[in-house]
Amino acid sequence: MGIKLATGITPIREVFKIDDGTQVTVRGWVYRRRDLGEKIFIVVRDSTGIIQTVFNHPMTLKAKKVGIESSVIISGIVRSDKRAPGGKEITADYIEVIGKSEAFPITKDASREFLLDIRHLSIRSRRLTTIFKIRDTIFKAVHDFFRKNGYYEVHCPMFITAAVEGGATLFEVKYVDGSTVYLTQSSQFYLEALIYSLEKVYTIAPSFRAEKSRTRRHLTEFWHAEAELAWSGLNDIMKVEEELITYIVNKTLEENYEELKFLGRNINALENVYPPFYRISYDEALNILEESGYKVPWGEDFGADEERVLTKQFDKPVFIYNFPEKAKAFYHKNNPNRPEVTLSADLLAPEGYGEIIGGGERIEKERDLIAKIKRFGLKPEDYQWYIDLRKYGSVPHAGFGLGMDRLVMWITGIDHIIDTIPFPRTIRRVYP
Ligand code: ATP
Ligand code: MG
Repeated sequence: MGIKLATGITPIREVFKIDDGTQVTVRGWVYRRRDLGEKIFIVVRDSTGIIQTVFNHPMTLKAKKVGIESSVIISGIVRSDKRAPGGKEITADYIEVIGKSEAFPITKDASREFLLDIRHLSIRSRRLTTIFKIRDTIFKAVHDFFRKNGYYEVHCPMFITAAVEGGATLFEVKYVDGSTVYLTQSSQFYLEALIYSLEKVYTIAPSFRAEKSRTRRHLTEFWHAEAELAWSGLNDIMKVEEELITYIVNKTLEENYEELKFLGRNINALENVYPPFYRISYDEALNILEESGYKVPWGEDFGADEERVLTKQFDKPVFIYNFPEKAKAFYHKNNPNRPEVTLSADLLAPEGYGEIIGGGERIEKERDLIAKIKRFGLKPEDYQWYIDLRKYGSVPHAGFGLGMDRLVMWITGIDHIIDTIPFPRTIRRVYP
């Protein structure tokens, strides 16, 4: 039998579809190396997959010096072998080292802290690579969803002059003219300004919050998908949120089934995500918590612990609506039938994950907005342009903010937000 040539470079994933006896060339990085004297096994990875290559004498002489994470080009003949990962391997007859790698610092017993210190290298791990592939699908799905549904994508400033979500988590920046400005906590106010011309808008951008407490679900710089709709109310946006999350989860199941399996994700839990999601009021949530031994005073927001207890009891996402006025930011419209609560809703991911979306109806009347700003001890002059929007053709409107990193955390089923993003920024870490 003669040798067949697959010309050029073959992506590693494709090698598994190629007939035995074909000559192929792959390129990538050395993932693992095992020396058995007369044989050397080099496992190579590229962005599409990993494959085992086998070096027999005299090729072993060349393979011997190749360190972990060297970049290599390897040619050889495809062969089926049950013992090889994925059932195929390449019997190598050529290797070229493009970039050598001596003493790659990551070993099996590396600590979590050390891996974070050398994140520029540890992002090459199979686990992180798998998570980032799913993250990519999730971001694409958000854009797809909004475009399919007639939203305009817009871009808002990151330098701002007043708090959206309260002063405690603002980052100060010294601006070019010497004045103090802040990094944005949310693009919401700018999206609200844009609905008067574009009606349905969305953006995906970083939001910055100087979160003081260490938790598994807070970054100081996170990715925020926000949408705002003119002529709409709380029920309208809850429906949009439900459809959006369902769309994203389905896309991920379609595109990343293998990756989810690799991460050990419970697939059934994701397949169960379809409308309608559960809807419970804040007061009902308090009752459920009390039955579970958690006493939250009426008016307080829920923390991670409460949300974990709550969402363990649900097998799909759950909305909590009618939050008390003081538990939510000032821009939320109060419920006309029950003024002590707001027309707001958080969407909590099940299985203990907790809040992934905060949203609600906004105050559309100038008078009501000014009164509430004062009630919150804030200064109307700090929100002048935002108040101004209520003077020129104001309309009922609503919107929401989805924490993309938290969404990735839940969909991938991982236990810490740090691993949802390549270079996490947290209370303790801004390097590398
Ligand atoms: P939490 O109570 O969990 O801090 P929040 O009420 O401050 O959340 P919102 O202001 O409603 O959150 O922001 C909208 C969404 O942005 C949240 O539902 C969450 O998914 C995400 N989010 C908020 N803060 C962070 C953060 N520090 N890191 C990652 N995601 C965040
Ligand atoms: Mg917060």
